[in-house]
Amino acid sequence: MSKRIFGLETEFGITFAPQGERTYTPDELARMLFRKVVAWGRSSNVFLGNGSRLYLDVGSHPEYATAECDGVEQLIAHDRAGERVLESLVADAQEQIAAAGVLGRVHVLKNNTDSAGNSYGCHENYLLRRQGDFTRVSEILVPHLITRQILIGAGKIVVTPRGAASYAFSQRADHIWETVSSSTTRSRPIINTRDEPHADAERYRRLHVIVGDSSMAEPTTLLKVGAADLVLRMIEAGVPMRDYALANPMRAIREISHDISGKAPIELSSGRTMTAIDLQREYLGRAKAFIELNEKQPHDDATIELWERGLDALETGDLSRVESELDWAIKLSVIRRYQERTGADLADPRIARLDLAYHDIDSERGLYSKLVKSGLVRTMVSPEEITAAIDTPPQTTRARLRGDFVAAASRARRDYTVDWMHLKINDLSQRTVRCSDPFKSVDERVDKLMEQL
Ligand code: ATP
Ligand code: MG
Ligand code: MG
Repeated sequence: MSKRIFGLETEFGITFAPQGERTYTPDELARMLFRKVVAWGRSSNVFLGNGSRLYLDVGSHPEYATAECDGVEQLIAHDRAGERVLESLVADAQEQIAAAGVLGRVHVLKNNTDSAGNSYGCHENYLLRRQGDFTRVSEILVPHLITRQILIGAGKIVVTPRGAASYAFSQRADHIWETVSSSTTRSRPIINTRDEPHADAERYRRLHVIVGDSSMAEPTTLLKVGAADLVLRMIEAGVPMRDYALANPMRAIREISHDISGKAPIELSSGRTMTAIDLQREYLGRAKAFIELNEKQPHDDATIELWERGLDALETGDLSRVESELDWAIKLSVIRRYQERTGADLADPRIARLDLAYHDIDSERGLYSKLVKSGLVRTMVSPEEITAAIDTPPQTTRARLRGDFVAAASRARRDYTVDWMHLKINDLSQRTVRCSDPFKSVDERVDKLMEQL
């Protein structure tokens, strides 16, 4: 499959920084954040006019699932638009707090762990054709997903109970317990195999990757999604791949995260040892050869270029090569500059605050946004594209049908029900329109339905 459908689901952390006695629990904050959503959609689980889904799951972590995108830049714009949607909810919660006479600020964080040791995720969704052996997909993909954290990890300060601090590549690695399974919480796997294609099940599968860190920097998202897409295309094309099965995947994922050089030897099932850098070089080498011979996708060249540069940066220890593009390196260089200025050690609470501030989605106060404004972090989509994605669905996928329907139905104040595949006006004896092809952005049946509004 050359074109693919992509979707990113992001669970956000929420906290309140009180400036007085009164504070709020995450539960109370979540309820205030969703007041506007519930007033608009009569539920805390809604689909928006840009085709996305916004909901409150268990554990008070607001989640934004992007609409189906068929390009990586489009996906980045829609992922960013989700942050803007959350930011508008923060503004509303902040007003409620002020009205209650309480002082303090609400923070929404796009990271993957909180101080209580909970983890929340960033799920990647990739459409696959149904034919083909899924075991082969996971065999080839899992070693990639375990080692790619040296490039696309969000970076994290790890403090041991004895107070020793170190910097790790990934926020999520320590919270993963299996390679493939149908569970998402209890024994959190790298790939979730629950078979819910949100599409014609005879033709399609949805690959649900739940191991990844959430990304702030747009080039990090590009590399995360672009490289996975390339590996999947090679699998689909039947490119012969060597067996890189790891002897102990769960030990490897943790060891790789905690070895910031990327050079610790990792044992393969074959008895060989390789470093995470070596393993990534193998996948990169295959991908480079692959795009020489096959139809290129718009994101391929930029993906390959950053992939290679990231590995070179690790190999040489010269992080300046990626410190405006890869989250863990961006954050580490900010921390190092701060340490040089203040002499603070890694375990210093001020550094922990700096770490959190990087993931704060606030477009004024968040550290990520400040770095972008100072030209220290490279972006890939324009502010205009992000703004457009807040209320315009991707025009090239099924999301266009859903988004336009939701927008029109709520303008007409009609009662409707939608999910990824279905559209329905509730008060008509109409049949539900089923949109089972996520690539299909035009549909006569939906036009007819819209005429009824
Ligand atoms: P949950 O997260 O509640 O367990 P879920 O995995 O179905 O359920 P949603 O939060 O509803 O997840 O998000 C689904 C994601 O999958 C969205 O980002 C959406 O764009 C994407 N998606 C929908 N259909 C497809 C498809 N056929 N192939 C790939 N991605 C898809
Ligand atoms: Mg979800
Ligand atoms: Mg999901």
